[in-house]
Amino acid sequence: MDMELQETLAVYKEFAFKYLYDARNFVNEACKGKDSCHLIALTVTSTLLSVWIYNFIFQRESLKSRCKKQFFKTVRRLPFIGTKIQSQLNKALDEMSDRLVSLKDGMSYVKALPQTGLKQEQVMEKLKEYSALGEVSWETGKVSGTVYSGEERLTQLLVKVYGEFAWSNPLHPDIFPGVRKMEAEVVRMTCTLFSGDPESCGTVTSGGTESILMACKAYRDLAYEKGIKDPEIIAPVSAHAAFDKAAHYFGMKMVHIPLDSKTMQVDVKAMRRAISRNTAMLVCSAPQFPHGVIDPIEDVAKLALKYQVPFHVDACLGGFLIVFMEKAGFPLKPFDFRVKGVTSISADTHKYGYAPKGSSVILYCNKKYRHYQFFVAPDWQGGIYASPAIAGSRPGGIVAACWATMMHIGEAGYIEATKNIIKAARFIETELRKIKDIVIFGKPEVSVIAVGSNSFDIYRLSNSLTAKGWNLNTLQFPSSIHLCLTLLHTKPGVAQQFVKDVQESVAVIMKDPGAKTTGMGAIYGMAQAIPDRSMVTEISQAFLDCLYSTETRLSAKQINGASGHH
Ligand SMILES: *Cc1c(COP(=O)(O)O)cnc(C)c1O
Repeated sequence: MDMELQETLAVYKEFAFKYLYDARNFVNEACKGKDSCHLIALTVTSTLLSVWIYNFIFQRESLKSRCKKQFFKTVRRLPFIGTKIQSQLNKALDEMSDRLVSLKDGMSYVKALPQTGLKQEQVMEKLKEYSALGEVSWETGKVSGTVYSGEERLTQLLVKVYGEFAWSNPLHPDIFPGVRKMEAEVVRMTCTLFSGDPESCGTVTSGGTESILMACKAYRDLAYEKGIKDPEIIAPVSAHAAFDKAAHYFGMKMVHIPLDSKTMQVDVKAMRRAISRNTAMLVCSAPQFPHGVIDPIEDVAKLALKYQVPFHVDACLGGFLIVFMEKAGFPLKPFDFRVKGVTSISADTHKYGYAPKGSSVILYCNKKYRHYQFFVAPDWQGGIYASPAIAGSRPGGIVAACWATMMHIGEAGYIEATKNIIKAARFIETELRKIKDIVIFGKPEVSVIAVGSNSFDIYRLSNSLTAKGWNLNTLQFPSSIHLCLTLLHTKPGVAQQFVKDVQESVAVIMKDPGAKTTGMGAIYGMAQAIPDRSMVTEISQAFLDCLYSTETRLSAKQINGASGHH
């Protein structure tokens, strides 16, 4: 070490000692003549107080968010304003239950078992009533997402396959070894599609949400093992709500990262800044649900490697499109296990895998991650209990149907389907970009196209398209709507009809761009503008109550009573 530095250090040291000495003298002087018991009590009290203040400020929910909640709770207790808010809320709830629960004339709800069972023909007869209840016809390709294939001949195959395995249960591989084999093959085929090496592995789950829950659970337990007490999920605001659900279920903290407002991709710099000692996992989507944009996976993978954290790519929505896009003539940047740093991928067989609802795949690059997903109760009286994911007993028929779909469609079939869907999506994108007064968000690379407007309230376009028989998704923050294309939109004329209906609607709206939004569109706009988010939660809980209602008319009072408020 050079002399100058040593001298400087020595001077600092002397100063430090002097100050410590002075401070000590000062404290001793101040405490002179004080009772020792008093001093000890004071020390203990102030320590406890500091701990209490620390715990009050640093909780899973931020102080700001808790203060806001308390504020709105108080407002709603105020005599005049509170009652006014409540009566508005009741009106909204009444309208909602009317729409959801009321039945056509002459219909009623079954509330108890029939005394004697119906004959098979009678069941089938009754069933027709239920099929006829829906008024939206998805068969014509006017609904966004929801039904990804709907192909008649595939339906016939699936019904037969389900019948063959209707009573099977993957929980008992000794009794149903065929189902075990099919499940293992579904996972392996999916690993192969995502460029997994022989070490790659995974499990079949009941859907995208369960796949995401399992990845978060695995990384939480891995974080616990590393000594992290409060594991955090770092995910773009555009990531699927299933990640918030996972944080909620598994006691993790959700850290939302904003998007680049132009590309709608996650802001990688902001993501880097959010990484801390508590980070349990990073998340990207390929593509994300709201705008159909693929996040910058290679950049985030570099962060994952640098900071040694697991990295999940959510390809639930488009997984079974993106793996075929290169061969379909629409190459993408790498998004799968070829990218070093990607440790897990979720992909839904029940979306563009065209399998019936109730199946998805969660993949890991390595078996060591999958072990953190498993659950084992070695001491249960019912026997050693080991299960791979959330459910215990599972429908083997669904696994068989998923396997059968993949085997029947095959690589060529998937490439063909992908080609048609992406072609239709690119056509719609090109045509919509020509329409003045609406904007497309980011660069939609797969099958979702999100539309907004700087000239008028975009929810008016949603209303107008609904009136023309379309059923699109409504998005918020920012206000927008999207169409998620499926095989049904590749039928002749559907994409052209959509473009035409948007053109006509926008032309009508632009005759009076400032006009008031009505109907459902107004409700979406209002829900976004309500500052008290707990009210939105309350309305949504009432909505969920309605789903299980067997009363033709629920009064707002009953709904409120049921959800335990006021
Ligand atoms: C659909 C979807 C999921 C999972 O949803 P499930 O309804 O549980 O299958 C996850 N992520 C994205 C981006 C999705 O679109």
